[in-house]
Amino acid sequence: MPRDSTPQTYLCALCQREVKQVTRHHLVPKSEGGRETVDLCAACHKTLHAFFTNRTLSMELSTIESLHRQPELQAYLRWVRKQADRRITVRTKNQRR
Ligand SMILES: [Zn+2]
Ligand SMILES: [Zn+2]
Repeated sequence: MPRDSTPQTYLCALCQREVKQVTRHHLVPKSEGGRETVDLCAACHKTLHAFFTNRTLSMELSTIESLHRQPELQAYLRWVRKQADRRITVRTKNQRR
């Protein structure tokens, strides 16, 4: 069992919140030969894949800047920044584009 005495926080690359845990997101999917990764909190990561398909992500949204320009994500980010780091229920859309 790893000792977990020092509370460490990580910075989410998308919402810029400090969170206890981040997950690695490939800006371009591995299957498309992408190598660059960013650390995202669980909520952002889930939201990203709920809103966009891998194809859209790799074709149009392969940078953090392009993600920040998405209206869907701007609304989400405004909301999530007001949330504490706790389990967030992400509202998913039926239709991904
Ligand atoms: Zn985040
Ligand atoms: Zn991902």
